Amino acid sequence: MTRSTPANSSAGVRREAEKSPLAPDSILAAQSPAMRSKLAKLGISSDFDLILHLPLRYVDETHIFPIAHALYGQMVQVEATVVKTEVRFRPRRQLVCLVEDRSGEMYVRLLNFYPSQQKMLSEGTRVRLLGELRLGFLGPEMVHPQIRVVREGVPLKENLTPVYPTTAGLGQEQLRKLIARALTQCDLQDTLPAELVREYRLASFAESIQYLHQPPPDAPLSELESRQHWAWQRLVFDELLAQQLSMRRHYARRRSLVAPSLPPTNTLTSALLAALPFALTGAQRRAFDEISRDLSARHPMQRLLQGDVGSGKTIVAALACAQALEHGFQAAVMAPTEILAEQHYRKMQEWLSPLGITVAWIAASVPKRAREIMLEQVASGAAQIAVGTHALFQEQVNFARLGLAVVDEQHRFGVEQRLALHNKGVNPHQLMMSATPIPRTLSMSYYADLDVSVIDELPPGRTPIMTRLIEEARREEVEARVRAACAGGRQAYWVCPLIEESEKLQLQTALDTHARLSATFPDLQVGLVHGRMKAKEKAEAMAAFKAGALNLLVATTVIEVGVDVPNASLMVIEHAERMGLSQLHQLRGRVGRGAAQSACILLYAPPLSEMAKARLKIIYEHTDGFEIARQDLALRGPGEFLGARQSGVAMLKIADIERDQAVLDQARQSAEKLLRAKSAIADMHLARWLARAEQYLKV
Ligand code: ADP
Ligand code: MG
Repeated sequence: MTRSTPANSSAGVRREAEKSPLAPDSILAAQSPAMRSKLAKLGISSDFDLILHLPLRYVDETHIFPIAHALYGQMVQVEATVVKTEVRFRPRRQLVCLVEDRSGEMYVRLLNFYPSQQKMLSEGTRVRLLGELRLGFLGPEMVHPQIRVVREGVPLKENLTPVYPTTAGLGQEQLRKLIARALTQCDLQDTLPAELVREYRLASFAESIQYLHQPPPDAPLSELESRQHWAWQRLVFDELLAQQLSMRRHYARRRSLVAPSLPPTNTLTSALLAALPFALTGAQRRAFDEISRDLSARHPMQRLLQGDVGSGKTIVAALACAQALEHGFQAAVMAPTEILAEQHYRKMQEWLSPLGITVAWIAASVPKRAREIMLEQVASGAAQIAVGTHALFQEQVNFARLGLAVVDEQHRFGVEQRLALHNKGVNPHQLMMSATPIPRTLSMSYYADLDVSVIDELPPGRTPIMTRLIEEARREEVEARVRAACAGGRQAYWVCPLIEESEKLQLQTALDTHARLSATFPDLQVGLVHGRMKAKEKAEAMAAFKAGALNLLVATTVIEVGVDVPNASLMVIEHAERMGLSQLHQLRGRVGRGAAQSACILLYAPPLSEMAKARLKIIYEHTDGFEIARQDLALRGPGEFLGARQSGVAMLKIADIERDQAVLDQARQSAEKLLRAKSAIADMHLARWLARAEQYLKV
């Protein structure tokens, strides 16, 4: 078969997509439902998904190693004759079998075994053993190797053997067979145009796929494992192209929807600005201008407002709401936690109720009766703004005329939740906010489906926060500082260490810390917030802290986002070395919100790893969230600050946006070019990668 050019291969690819997964001749259709559900767990729901299920690593069954030449720690195949097999009972029951080849001998140990295995390993049997050679108590050994009895003339494998990601009850051999069958049955022709392949020096799809599933014996294993190999790079490109195409498509699709045009009339917004005790920063002004322009358009805004903690995103959101209200539309403001949502509610009240705006508060903790009234107001249009948590879309909330939805910390909401809100209005404009700074290049690719505004300037009059790194052993000094701050009428946070392995332990630590600090400071009011408290209790504790009724607030990392208590001037973070840099940065941003000199004390427990040292140095030396993010990215990769977002990046299986940054740029450019040219290639490519690409879509 000659490889057809992409122009006339589109029909073939499309047919491929249409007939999968359950056409009568499909490989998947022939499987039992149980097998299909196992495959589904691996993300395989069409024959072509089998093709795209790529190996994690390989084992070499193309060579036989002499026992004496194999290195410890190496995965090798040896062929040997059984000398002796016995069951031993010390230190525990196990089958121990001595084997030898011409070069030497070694032991095989099976800690769990069947009688049939014992029989199989009878004296004189020739076996092929595949496993990792180790130096055991008895000498060189393999524990639970793969064992095959060999008879005369059993050929060696011609290719390296792929090891695939799998799931319980689905063996490697079964998967290998299915994938090998898919390789012979599926149409592997290229979806990319020849000039693109040439421009980026890519290998063909078919060649790359064949290579990865069945590499030749001399394939460079380390290049394959680090995915730097040309065969991987081609698939990385394909996957990123599919992601970019689908994100840009999605963007274009939403852009083709009709939304109410809400141009500024400057009635409410100017009144709001005039009443503020401060003037907007240049960056806030610019961000609002961009939003204001989007709201004027006849298609829904889909904008992300990025700004460091404390950069003043809330007022920009309030201005956006005000502009929507100028046209008689309503606005919804959502935050992921009740603490945050309540803070937004208070701000909106403070700023907008003097202007005659009614703001409704909808959260789980609102008593039934009050909530019914709020719901009625939202439904009738009497309340122009509704602020709340996910209760805003879970409940029977009906908006009379929803024009704008603001979502704070958008990455903490699931896709379904955002969809639900989206379905409440005709097509409301959407403003998403995030305090997670992402370096610009990354965000351009990562947020390919959104327009992005950045507030890159903090409001004036903030005194810079002093950061101190203090060894845990000097805790008393730290306590003295807490005492001094509180004596001066200031307040302090004490953040308990993050304990990832155990939520229970984390809770216990918070309770212990609270008890200890209450005893240390008998004259201070010490409060506590942690993740296991009810939303209402948390909100009460926060409110008490905000009102100044508590001097010291012991907290787990739940106070991470958005809390605004200007009188708090000291933050102590225990085991700072365990936290991510962006998290530390966010936490630190809770202080330094007023005029008082503020400090953040990072307590650490030595000895620190080199990585921990490097990270604490970054947070110590920098206060700009974008700079910290940039360095963090260089140090650790994007997972930490992107991980939370249910997104394209999280869904990428082959590509890694940090490692493949250069390819990502190429894919983005290619996607734009293909879409601009309305090329059929975009359809073909997405059809092939669709099952995955669809998952990148976000609302
Ligand atoms: P974030 O971007 O982290 O959500 P906020 O919107 O909570 O930040 O703003 C932090 C604090 O700064 C709030 O108390 C807010 O009222 C105040 N603020 C916002 N903009 C300005 C400004 N231009 N000048 C002075 N203070 C401001
Ligand atoms: Mg905020």
